[in-house]
Amino acid sequence: MSPVPFNPINPQQFSQTGDRVTTDVQRYCSPTGQIADIIVNDLTIDSNGVWKTEKLRECIPPLADGRIPDSPKDIRECCRCQGLIHVESSYICPVCNLTFCIVCTTEFSPDKDKSIRLCIPCVEKATTTPLQKFYKWIVG
Ligand SMILES: [Zn+2]
Ligand SMILES: [Zn+2]
Repeated sequence: MSPVPFNPINPQQFSQTGDRVTTDVQRYCSPTGQIADIIVNDLTIDSNGVWKTEKLRECIPPLADGRIPDSPKDIRECCRCQGLIHVESSYICPVCNLTFCIVCTTEFSPDKDKSIRLCIPCVEKATTTPLQKFYKWIVG
């Protein structure tokens, strides 16, 4: 056992080797079986002579949009490219009600005043459906 250093400025004690302690791991499993782990670490750093413990949250592997989710409930899988993304960067297509990333959606304008974000598979379908009929299908 190595002695535990004592910092007189901050009386909290830290072990000499436990500078990075994993305190929580939450696993997300997507509908197609992809896995992402949200790992919470207590990171002990020397900040200008004062020992501080900070929470460091990371996602392994990182999400496609670079965001770090708080919990597995924040993760979505794109139905087209299977990329894992944060819920706030995901889009639900109003036609098929499936979830997509920004790359797999596109702005669709049935007329010049209205535009709507649809998934690319639905837009591809729209090119084979009479435009007017398709527009009625979306807006009722
Ligand atoms: Zn996608
Ligand atoms: Zn769609």
